[in-house]
Amino acid sequence: VRGIDYLRDPRLNMGMAFSIEERQVLGLHGLIPPRFKTQEEQVDLCRKNIDRYQEPLNKFIYLAGLQDRNERLFYRLLSENVEEYMPIVYTPTVGLACQKFGLIFRRPRGLFISIHDKGHVYEVMRNWPESDVRAIVVTDGERILGLGDLGVQGMGIPVGKLSLYTALAGIKPHQCLPIVLDVGTNRKELLEDEFYIGNRHERVTGDAYDGFIDEFMQAVVQRYGQNTLIQFEDFGNHNAFRFLEKYRGKYCTFNDDIQGTAAVAVAGLLASLRLTGTKLAEHKFLFQGAGEASLGIANLCVMAMMEEGIGEQEARSKIWLVDSRGLIVKDRPKGGISGHKLSYAHPHEPMENLEDIVRTVKPTALIGAAAIGGVFTPQLLKDMASFNKRPVIFALSNPTSQAECTAEDCYTHTEGRAVFASGSPFSPVTLNGQTFHPGQGNNAYIFPGVALGVICTGIHHIEDSIFLMAAKALADMVTEDDLSLGRLYPPLSDIRKCSLKIAVYIAEHAYTTDIASTYPRPNDLTKFIEDQQYNYDYDSWSALPETWQWPDLSTF
Ligand code: NAP
Ligand code: MN
Repeated sequence: VRGIDYLRDPRLNMGMAFSIEERQVLGLHGLIPPRFKTQEEQVDLCRKNIDRYQEPLNKFIYLAGLQDRNERLFYRLLSENVEEYMPIVYTPTVGLACQKFGLIFRRPRGLFISIHDKGHVYEVMRNWPESDVRAIVVTDGERILGLGDLGVQGMGIPVGKLSLYTALAGIKPHQCLPIVLDVGTNRKELLEDEFYIGNRHERVTGDAYDGFIDEFMQAVVQRYGQNTLIQFEDFGNHNAFRFLEKYRGKYCTFNDDIQGTAAVAVAGLLASLRLTGTKLAEHKFLFQGAGEASLGIANLCVMAMMEEGIGEQEARSKIWLVDSRGLIVKDRPKGGISGHKLSYAHPHEPMENLEDIVRTVKPTALIGAAAIGGVFTPQLLKDMASFNKRPVIFALSNPTSQAECTAEDCYTHTEGRAVFASGSPFSPVTLNGQTFHPGQGNNAYIFPGVALGVICTGIHHIEDSIFLMAAKALADMVTEDDLSLGRLYPPLSDIRKCSLKIAVYIAEHAYTTDIASTYPRPNDLTKFIEDQQYNYDYDSWSALPETWQWPDLSTF
């Protein structure tokens, strides 16, 4: 390594924080201005620079540049200012960055594997320069956030999610690998866009597609081993459930859109029980939507109710779903019911209008995840408040424009009695002198901590019980203060503590149930996990080689 490489390699670079000794010994002297800065001063300068930009996309570009230039500084900035910068590195701004991906593209990050590499996926994987990868986030770009098919430009999502692995859970950056599988795109605008940088054809489907995904999974294991965590992200609904079933027993894998969402929503429900003074099994749930999010939540809810002591059939009978064709009921004449939906089809007359359904089913908890903005109308909210003392109402659809209702509407039309959470952030609401701070049911509370727990203990297969564990850990972090503010989640600024706690719960569970593969069992699980976490502090590591003296050799 030559001196200049310490400035060019983002993993080594500390800019003006190199000491005079380091500058001289490493051959950097004169290559940086004669000023010496601390990491704190550098963070402060970054903040000032970001503030100069008006447009979120420009802030995104600045942060991507920082990540390419000085990794530890990037992670310090992000980790210590989650509330401020997470919305840029992750949703919502990352969505915009994906849409403009070809236009703003500067340096590549992650691995781009094309369907035309079929038969050679392993060779492509071998080009990745890191040998110790523990976690992969992969997408095929078909359903990016609520934005639909973005093809190869969906790469922004794996990159952003893995930045959160490090910033929120301290998983080491070199152990994280973002991957996009480019099988084409069905979005006409992209195929015609001069800046589009993916394969310019429609999606390859069927056996060719399935075979490609199979080969990818095998190549991961061949290159990085059986324990490599593979997070599926933003695949289309028709593939997401299929792949989860197909791979969950054979690989170390989970689907965040189904299982991560489930855990964050169930955590909110568990916390809500302290406000309603009930058990889960005393509720009647109605879901608007029966897709990845709703079915994931419903299935995990059943598991949680069974832990309370009721049987599976009884638990399922407490859950009602509405899809694009109305209430899901047994022998519905209009539209067949398939897959997971089937186990929630109860005998009832068919109904279509959500307001009518609510008035008839009279749920105690109403959960929206169908991306139909405003569907929780004032009348519907008033009805929920008329037959519930404390109606539980979650408006989970993203982005904000798709939310089922706003926080303000929800509190206003329920006389402030609603127990509310949302997928997108809402500002505090003041009603009759009382101020509510609605909590945000964001997956970022869950997936980094789950990954940390799984990686540290070497869990081979991620069962649903892991996500229930994560939900409980998160719910346990909610304080009485949070609840009194109407918040079902800890503040975003505490999210790093949540990740650690989730990882510790999972480790506890993994060693108790014998699904861990890292032995011997550590005595202090918290310390065991903390010791494996990334440290972005410059002081934690010196660029200078260690030097030492030999003893007096004349005595030998
Ligand atoms: P998905 O798998 O495509 O499911 C969408 C569901 O909505 C489908 O079941 C669909 O019905 C149903 N639907 C469509 N139009 C409807 C209508 N008019 N009335 C009732 N149901 C209707 O999507 P998803 O992954 O579940 O995501 C759904 C929403 O949840 C998105 O806005 C997403 O951003 C949000 N989400 C939020 C979080 C979070 O807050 N943490 C996490 C994940 C997802 P059919 O089955 O009949 O097609
Ligand atoms: Mn997602």
